[in-house]
Amino acid sequence: MSKIRTRIAPSPTGFLHLGTARTALYSWAYARHFGGEFVLRIEDTDVARSTQDSVDQILESMRWLGLEYDEGPVYQMQRLDRYKAVVDQLIAEGKAYYCYSTPEELDAVREAKKARGEKALYDGTWRPAPGKTLPAIPVGVKPVVRFCNPPEGEVTWNDLVKGPITISNREIDDLIIVRTDGIPTYNFAVVVDDWDMQISHVFRGDEHINNTPWQINIFRALGATLPEFGHCPVILGDDGQKLSKRRGAVSVTAYEEGGYLPEAMLNYLARLGWSHGDEELFSREQLVSWFDGTHLNKSPAQWDPAKLLWVNAHYIKQADNARLAPLVAVQLGKLGVTLPDDVAANHLPLVCGLLKDRCDTTVALATWAAKFYADVQVDAAELAQHVTDAVKPALATLAAKLADCAWDKASIAAVIKEVLAAHGLKMPQLAMPVRVLVMGTAQTPSLDAVLELIGKTKVLDRLAKA
Ligand code: GLU
Repeated sequence: MSKIRTRIAPSPTGFLHLGTARTALYSWAYARHFGGEFVLRIEDTDVARSTQDSVDQILESMRWLGLEYDEGPVYQMQRLDRYKAVVDQLIAEGKAYYCYSTPEELDAVREAKKARGEKALYDGTWRPAPGKTLPAIPVGVKPVVRFCNPPEGEVTWNDLVKGPITISNREIDDLIIVRTDGIPTYNFAVVVDDWDMQISHVFRGDEHINNTPWQINIFRALGATLPEFGHCPVILGDDGQKLSKRRGAVSVTAYEEGGYLPEAMLNYLARLGWSHGDEELFSREQLVSWFDGTHLNKSPAQWDPAKLLWVNAHYIKQADNARLAPLVAVQLGKLGVTLPDDVAANHLPLVCGLLKDRCDTTVALATWAAKFYADVQVDAAELAQHVTDAVKPALATLAAKLADCAWDKASIAAVIKEVLAAHGLKMPQLAMPVRVLVMGTAQTPSLDAVLELIGKTKVLDRLAKA
């Protein structure tokens, strides 16, 4: 088998969409599985809509997901000379031609065809043929270049995802391959690139299935070896409609900012549209060792935010505290809590360790961690419910004893025990009001551990509000 080379070819007309990220992941994993290479190509020929900001976001998303590419980013706009050379060659060989039909003429043809109940394809006015006399070249009209698509026959390929697909050449017309401004269209540039870059396997969204026959015909006209194609179904939102911006976050960066870990995203995205037995949680290495292009789903997958949270919670629980801390520090910053460097480096990891079992994102972790660093807002109703007159004497004893207590978990636990015994209380009767006072909520991890990490001064200050 020749070398496996895959690519992802996003258009920088917006962020990296989750669907494209998933295709990138499959392309990357496929190349890695077979010891091949993975290329990043930026398809920026839509000059009006392409932006540097989108390029930056795409690169950042790829970096975050850890989808390292072996070549690229290759920018199509830097390859215009190459496309021109290939177009000139096709024209010289009679496989492509200049078309001077104006938009008005094309509209008229389309309307006439529609009126006759025919498919609104180009009528071939400028297509050369043996013995045919072409119209006189009109003055002042800039031509496009069209590809001579075979008028008859069918295009068939065995799609890696969908199985055999056949589309009749009668369904498709002479595609414009170069616009009047000299810039090639997607269907042409993509073929020249996939050919030049010796791409062996193309994974992409199934919205491109209808483009594939044109591309295959162009490959053949160039005498190029065809890659294999695999068209992945769309991702649906939880309303069964195509996932879109209006229906929530669809960019990879939104999830990075929203407190997800890249390995969770990678795991979730991979599983969304592909399976390996009933494995739900797997590492990058496992994905690479399992992903051979089989077991890709033919039908659309549904985006499931709750499952993604579950996967993320799993990886947060597994993550090293020292790794979580800087991520949580960023989220704390968004809450207006900035930590001195030594606290962020030494104390925050301990807080993360205490809280990570109960958090499904680093945003949730930061919301909890904030209670250790910033003033807590105690809800008046909670205060009234838990910090009753009956318990206040015990709280006063606790504060007095804690003031003299060595500040470690075991000593704090011993003091709590003494206070319970002295006031004849059960643990929850004391622990709930203490939690409400020092954390602003009655549900926290184990009280001695929480108090230890909040620190003596803050604990005593907060208890004094009883
Ligand atoms: N630029 C195209 C897109 O973003 C690439 C499609 C392809 O992979 O061929 O949809």
